[in-house]
Amino acid sequence: MTEFELIEKYFRRPASRAVLGGGDDCALVQIPATQNLAVTTDMLVEGRHFFAGADPYRLGWECLAVNLSDLAAMGATPRYFTLSFALPKADAAWLEPFSCGLFALADRHGVEIIGGDTTAGPLTISIAAMGEVPPLKALKRSGARVGDEVWVSHEIGGAALRLYACWGKTTIPEAHAEALKLRMEMPEPRIALGEFLRDFAHAAIDISDGLCGDMAHILRASNVGAQIHLSAIPVPNSLHEKLLGVEREMAVKLTLSGGDDYELCFTAPPSAHGAIAAKLAALGLRGGVIGHIVAEPGLQAFDERGVALSLPQSFDHFRG
Ligand code: ADP
Ligand code: MG
Repeated sequence: MTEFELIEKYFRRPASRAVLGGGDDCALVQIPATQNLAVTTDMLVEGRHFFAGADPYRLGWECLAVNLSDLAAMGATPRYFTLSFALPKADAAWLEPFSCGLFALADRHGVEIIGGDTTAGPLTISIAAMGEVPPLKALKRSGARVGDEVWVSHEIGGAALRLYACWGKTTIPEAHAEALKLRMEMPEPRIALGEFLRDFAHAAIDISDGLCGDMAHILRASNVGAQIHLSAIPVPNSLHEKLLGVEREMAVKLTLSGGDDYELCFTAPPSAHGAIAAKLAALGLRGGVIGHIVAEPGLQAFDERGVALSLPQSFDHFRG
């Protein structure tokens, strides 16, 4: 299979919304005059973001999901993406399921591929995703205000718990294992929620590196602080059990700083509480308010008895 046969067979799709899709030197898209173009890109590297030999279907899903999650966190509606990757070899047994996973998620959100780049090399996948958001409606990190409630869209910590189990640092009951594996490998970008929040939230971020680290970005950008409560943070049952048991210390760390769940963390005025709670319920999400925004800078987290918790650092690629 040549480079062009590979692109043609697995990644070229007819343009629907785009003026011109893949196949030329550039794609052409028309953005409505009433919209801003939201642009994001995320790269996944074998051995760094996923294990060598990772399931290709899930990997295809995941590398688009992490990009769509950024659009969701901005309140944007996804429209287009490009796919650039380095592949060790043109292997149909890998490419077929990879492209199926990728397009399963793409079709679900009506987002179309409009180009990319393909080269031989160590497995690295980079996607750029583009979406539309009405001017002034984008959910920036800098919009949080004192008095806002801080929300999380759904359970967090599950992906990190699964990772810890993979590393042999803990065990997960068989009954929970597959659900957590799915959680880690096939995150759900919260697109519908992000679109809804345009009219309600002041600030938002998607939780990729861990709750505390990602919340800190909102707090810094907004020049505010926050107080959050451990017991209010939604976690999967398997993690909840560990919060009550001998592995509590680890479980607290995973809850506060476990990454890769791709849930949204957002702030909104108390007046929006009812509308947001109803929307989460309608979407089948177990999210809720975990704290509130205060004037004093910095993040404080409290345990069930109101005792301040020391906050773990979140993941940093150059610190480890
Ligand atoms: P150029 O040399 O102009 O950069 P390429 O040979 O890299 O063009 O790509 C040819 C066409 O195929 C372009 O339209 C490009 O967008 C598309 N393309 C390349 N790789 C991919 C890919 N992995 N997925 C989708 N489209 C791709
Ligand atoms: Mg090229």
